[in-house]
Amino acid sequence: MAIEKTDAIVIRVVEFSESSCVVTMFTRDFGKIAAMAKGARRPKSAFESAIDLLTTSRILFLHKSSDSLDLLTEAKVQRRFRASDSSLPHLYAGYYVAELLASLTDLGDPHTDLYDLAQDTICRLDDMQNPATVIARFELNALRFLGLLPTLDHCSSCGLKVSENRRIPFGQITGGILCQGCRRGQAQVVSVTWPVIVGMRQLVAADVGLSADLPEISTTVNGELRGLMNNYMSHLLGKRPRMIPFLGMLVQPSVCS
Ligand SMILES: [Zn+2]
Repeated sequence: MAIEKTDAIVIRVVEFSESSCVVTMFTRDFGKIAAMAKGARRPKSAFESAIDLLTTSRILFLHKSSDSLDLLTEAKVQRRFRASDSSLPHLYAGYYVAELLASLTDLGDPHTDLYDLAQDTICRLDDMQNPATVIARFELNALRFLGLLPTLDHCSSCGLKVSENRRIPFGQITGGILCQGCRRGQAQVVSVTWPVIVGMRQLVAADVGLSADLPEISTTVNGELRGLMNNYMSHLLGKRPRMIPFLGMLVQPSVCS
């Protein structure tokens, strides 16, 4: 057993006993960890708000081998998730980020790129940026880092280039767009308008750095993109993410800046 130090985002907190919690965190150096926070539920606990959902902390933890829980020994708050104070869509978007980090990653499998993306996403939600665009960018780039990005340039079945068309078929099983020839006979195909594919390409483009401005995506395209991602994420995870029913709120015109 070794004491380890890293930065971590809290993605799930479960009460364990009258005084303790099990905290799941997505860390920069160790990927997802599940750690016991002893005494965390006591008043004046040493952890205080460091184990609130989506808080980023510098943590010390005892890394246990095998299947047993790690032990959180110290957590110092670096950044709280403040969007929750002012906007319900931004709050739900944050919860969805936590849910995806928990469901898409395995314990002890580090992804520094995904950690930095998650951190950037939380900052953008705090900054009250358009939550629909921020979340779609998070989903697509998270899938990219995990090797699950849908094919957006070529047919996901035969590899031929797919040219612009009013509507483009997207295969859930083949994992991306389809040419008209391959569409026939494919199950689980949805059809989206061309601007949705263009928007997705822009969101995963290499020059969209962590500090760069996000592309302007209209409310209509964001709405369609949301529907596509709801289906695709459910397909990939084998279950519908719990936050999906709340994400419709992200694409209402009133919340888009
Ligand atoms: Zn094809």
